[in-house]
Amino acid sequence: MDKRDYYDVLGVGKTATADEIKKAYRKLARQYHPDVNKDNPAAAEKFKECSEAYSVLSDEQKRASYDQYGHAAFQNGGGGAQGNPFGGGFGGFGGQGMDDIFDMFFNGQGRSGRSRADNGPRPGADLRMDLEIKFEEAAFGCEKEVSLNREEECETCHGNGAEPGSKVETCSECHGTGEVRVTQNTMFGQMVNVRPCPRCHGKGKIIKTPCHTCRGTGRVKRNKTLTVKIPAGVDSGSRLRVSGEGEAGIRGGGKGDLYVYLYVKPHKFFERDGTTIHCEIPINIVQASLGAEIKVPTLEGQVIMKVPAGTQPGKILRLKGKGVASLRNGAKGDQLVRIKVVIPTKLSEKQKDALEKFSAVGGDDINPEEKGFLKKISGLFK
Ligand SMILES: [Zn+2]
Ligand SMILES: [Zn+2]
Repeated sequence: MDKRDYYDVLGVGKTATADEIKKAYRKLARQYHPDVNKDNPAAAEKFKECSEAYSVLSDEQKRASYDQYGHAAFQNGGGGAQGNPFGGGFGGFGGQGMDDIFDMFFNGQGRSGRSRADNGPRPGADLRMDLEIKFEEAAFGCEKEVSLNREEECETCHGNGAEPGSKVETCSECHGTGEVRVTQNTMFGQMVNVRPCPRCHGKGKIIKTPCHTCRGTGRVKRNKTLTVKIPAGVDSGSRLRVSGEGEAGIRGGGKGDLYVYLYVKPHKFFERDGTTIHCEIPINIVQASLGAEIKVPTLEGQVIMKVPAGTQPGKILRLKGKGVASLRNGAKGDQLVRIKVVIPTKLSEKQKDALEKFSAVGGDDINPEEKGFLKKISGLFK
């Protein structure tokens, strides 16, 4: 099924203001809210659709992407879990974005999803760190030791917050489910809300003696060193996701992820543009005129490169496959060598002599372009 245009979904124009978008969404959300459309499954779909549209159009950045790329802007969401460690685009729809919407809509009251998140299991926070690596490390990949200070699961209680051997009772109020159902009369009609149990705060259990190590929180702050594998071909600005190396979850929630933002130090000799490596090699006028074999440094060591006779300054010669591997498919780029022809500035008498002799025998061939050039400018000065 084709996805509908987000603007159409909300019934607003492309130039709608943030306020107009908000108003349009509120109206539709009231109309299609599942709690007032219990017997109409189509309404739930509508509600989802307009919430999704709103989550994008209410976010300035996402809206700009959507305007530019349409739905394609969000197709690679979810942090790139498959294969490619670099998450592109935006995270999947839902999660925090939905919570924000519900906050706006319900003023943060009585929304079971949000309140549960505060009291029930909560995933650990994602962590972010910046890492500087060398030019060669980025090109070939490497392993780096990084050290983090993060919340980890408490070893004493294994994260459940109870002193080992102490009594943990099942909550009698919610019978261990952590939830209670509350019926409410609202402007939308009667709504049944699922709320975290007030007695156990959504845990489903009552801890008699909190763990002495973590004081019942289930987590402790620890310094942790881990080895991060950096694939070949990364560049400055690459973001590496290390799954499950964020902070420990709360009350049985999953672990967060670690995001490593890479910065590649510049190289003394090489410059890089994607998978291509650039460098400049100086040669002398004799090498440029007669041709030569010169030594060129590459990332994999020195190679001999042929400079053809008659090479002009600024000529770019290609060393195939001496660039950086592509992060996507491992294919190697090329190294481009820019030839700099250096004109001598200090000549000995003997050298001057030789050059003058060269000039004398050279005739027109010394500057093959001279004739054409003179012809071109001949009409300029009359
Ligand atoms: Zn503990
Ligand atoms: Zn309870």
